[in-house]
Amino acid sequence: MKRKGIFVTATDTGAGKTYASLVLGHLLKDKKIDVGYMKPVQCSGDDASKITNALDLKDDFNLINPYYFEEPLSPNTAAKRAGRKIDPQKIIKAYQKLSAQHEMMIVEGAGGLLVPLCKDYLIADLIKDLELEVIIVSRLGLGTINHTLLSINQAKSLGINVKGVLFCNTSKNKGGIPEQTNPSVIKDYSGVDILGQVPFLDKVDQQAIVDKCSNAININKIFNLSDKAITNKLVEMDKRYVWHPFTQMQDWLEEDPLVIDRAKGSYLIDTDGNKYLDGVSSLWVNVHGHGQKYIDQAIKDQINKLSHSTLLGLSNTPSVELAKELVRIAPKGLEKVFYSDSGSTSVEIAIKMAYQYWQNVGKKKKTKIVHLENSYHGDTLGSVSVGGISLFHEVYSKLIFKAIKLDFPSEMHTGSADYFNCLKRLEKLLKVESGSIGAFIVEPIVQGAAGMIIWPKGVLKEMARICEKYEVLLIVDEVATGFGRTGKMFACEHEGVRPDIMCLAKGITGGYLPLAATLTTKRVFDGFLFDYKDKKTFFHGHTYTGNPLCCAAALANLEVFKEQRTLQKLQPKIEFLTRKLKRFEKLNCVGEVRQKGFMVGIELVKDKKTRALFPWEEGIGVKVCKKVREKGVILRPLGSVIVLMPPLSITLKELKILLDATYSSIEEIVC
Ligand SMILES: *Cc1c(COP(=O)(O)O)cnc(C)c1O
Repeated sequence: MKRKGIFVTATDTGAGKTYASLVLGHLLKDKKIDVGYMKPVQCSGDDASKITNALDLKDDFNLINPYYFEEPLSPNTAAKRAGRKIDPQKIIKAYQKLSAQHEMMIVEGAGGLLVPLCKDYLIADLIKDLELEVIIVSRLGLGTINHTLLSINQAKSLGINVKGVLFCNTSKNKGGIPEQTNPSVIKDYSGVDILGQVPFLDKVDQQAIVDKCSNAININKIFNLSDKAITNKLVEMDKRYVWHPFTQMQDWLEEDPLVIDRAKGSYLIDTDGNKYLDGVSSLWVNVHGHGQKYIDQAIKDQINKLSHSTLLGLSNTPSVELAKELVRIAPKGLEKVFYSDSGSTSVEIAIKMAYQYWQNVGKKKKTKIVHLENSYHGDTLGSVSVGGISLFHEVYSKLIFKAIKLDFPSEMHTGSADYFNCLKRLEKLLKVESGSIGAFIVEPIVQGAAGMIIWPKGVLKEMARICEKYEVLLIVDEVATGFGRTGKMFACEHEGVRPDIMCLAKGITGGYLPLAATLTTKRVFDGFLFDYKDKKTFFHGHTYTGNPLCCAAALANLEVFKEQRTLQKLQPKIEFLTRKLKRFEKLNCVGEVRQKGFMVGIELVKDKKTRALFPWEEGIGVKVCKKVREKGVILRPLGSVIVLMPPLSITLKELKILLDATYSSIEEIVC
């Protein structure tokens, strides 16, 4: 993994930036890290050449220090008086050249963040253009709290990430109360980390620095260095305390888990700094990539206003605004939004809503719910009741309510006729029993958890027709398919279907926070409007219903869809994916490749001719995904189906990496 580096800035001149840079350089060298250094502008003195010599750097000095002025003044003033002008582009190019030569860069600023380099261009602008994080060097002593907090706040408000504050002891004084207390005061009031203290040193050679500073400065934190000890500790604590979902913990305890620490764009980064392409969008949720600026900022802005207030008896700004937006983009007829916090709860709500609707309007016998074979609608008991995947659901069979399961194709290579035969059975069922059936629930067009089963064209439309004809409410669970996954905002749009109830979750916040919504029509909503004494209220609600932070994230998610024209940009990527997947079909161990938009299932088979499947105990999908992880890609299979579901924002280049890693892993493990 290519490392970048940090920008060393300070509260003001003379805080010890140069001294700190020198110490950091030596500590990196001690860790056998190839460090480069840059001082874009130097006004008087010979700090840059001193560090260059001390760190034994061989780079062109014009790159290390592109601008030098004689007078000890602020850079733009010094430049003006010397009859010159600072060109930020020259600095950026020099930085790019140096950083290509080194594993890690230390870039030392001039003065503080708001020091001008040229017209309308501050040190802070340079930091942003170099895409670096900063550490703020602060003098240890009386009178530095204000400067330090101001610098931190200014950096944050400009969107610059502050790694922390590094204190510098620039004098031999032992120090009094300010020296002892300032670090914790600054940590408490700013929330940023204290990265350590550079002690006063008589000698500044490498050995002296390593001896005196190794324990005083958190070099790993400053440079995001891998620290095996940290990883090991987290791994041990995970095994000790955490019970993972959908995981046989006996197996889990035998291996060391990957601990994800941060993420950027299409990549997850572990505690050792290794990057992995997020091939399943962190379980089907991520839309615009990790660390998307606009969504991050929207959450931060909302935190500054209101983190939570209840929707029981009150309203809040983001939940209102989001409801309006969801209704605007949803299929016509869906006009009311009921919030919850997961896909499962959105389905619970849909089921209870449909059931109670018929109770409220006096058709009390319409109590049954029809669902499909191999359906998956979540893990709470109501949603398990309409689930049809025996591996997940069978054990709870005595705990759940009885629903009607409709036979439905799930085998490979099923012709479209099979689907329409099943629909004939649906029509027959409703014709006879619609008096006792309240709703029909489906995952529209793509049955995700079943192994990315994709319906032929017209199936969803026919379902909608039948439901309408026999007065059965159609519930579409768009938890997985919603928010662009299938190439349109919602899967229903492919066939112009207008459901009675729609469930949304996963991608609704762009994959940032847990939120769900159940949308319904005015007709269903009106079926709950009675005198409160009639006890026909919808008695359902979760404590965090309509949480403002989640709603703010969801609003930002929709804004990014518009702003970046996500759906338009997705179309060529879908075509690219389709083209590249052809290659997989030729593999002997691949029975079928299924794709709808950015939802892909590659079914592995033991025998291509007979279509014999691998026994699930063999865990063939898991084996392939382990292999692919060695190649820097994270996937999670569904049995013997390899799932590809990257963020919609993935680039073509990244998509190719994902496909190549998957292809070679399948080839190595199975074929
Ligand atoms: C993931 C999923 C759910 C469950 O959502 P959770 O947020 O995990 O509770 C429900 N329905 C479908 C179609 C899903 O893919």
